Amino acid sequence: MFFLSQIGRFFLNLICPTNCPICHEETDAAHCLCPNCFNELRFITKPCCEICGRPFEYSPFKEILCGACMQHKPAFKMARSILHYDHFSKQLILAFKHGDHTELAPLFTKLLLQVDKKVFEADLILSVPLHRYRLMKRKYNQASLLGKSLSKKLNIPFYPTVLKRNRSTPSQGHMRRKQRQKNVLKAFSVSKQELIRNKTVLLLDDVMTTGATVNECAKTLKRAGAKNVHVLTVYRVI
Ligand SMILES: [Zn+2]
Ligand SMILES: [Zn+2]
Repeated sequence: MFFLSQIGRFFLNLICPTNCPICHEETDAAHCLCPNCFNELRFITKPCCEICGRPFEYSPFKEILCGACMQHKPAFKMARSILHYDHFSKQLILAFKHGDHTELAPLFTKLLLQVDKKVFEADLILSVPLHRYRLMKRKYNQASLLGKSLSKKLNIPFYPTVLKRNRSTPSQGHMRRKQRQKNVLKAFSVSKQELIRNKTVLLLDDVMTTGATVNECAKTLKRAGAKNVHVLTVYRVI
């Protein structure tokens, strides 16, 4: 009996992994973090900038904008992220991005669903596209995987190929804000404008750093006729 249940568990693990993706401890249910790792995650909470979602240490007011949004209003109406990007939380996205951890999509979707519900008031979901060379190297686009999974949960259509990347842009890891803005300038285009005209788009990406990439995408979508753009990312670099 014990042996059988061991075999059962082995096969169940192949379909529904019940190990924590960070420390590999066994967990009670599939697609979960163990309690220790979960407690290590730093969630982004209110108060935060009404537009870009940057968290404030303290704010006496309910609605407030950060300095950057007051100076230059972004093209998107709102952006929200779930987790602070740090050495610990990074392990989760790295496993998802570069390993063959497609099974992590349900876990990320669960996390994304915890965000401010206003973000989900949208007509369709798009994801920030990777250039096809990078896509070939990585085999799949993680933002696109999240799009599919979120679309099912929210019952909002997801169009993975409507927003296109025209050229491969160098990795932005070490660039400053101005360089990042230049790097992504006119990098995107929209293939089926009729799908987004007068619609509110929920735009997905994995990490938001200065917001240059999602802002350029939002500009492109607005130029193509979108009414509003809401941005949702798993991580935010603060
Ligand atoms: Zn763990
Ligand atoms: Zn802001």
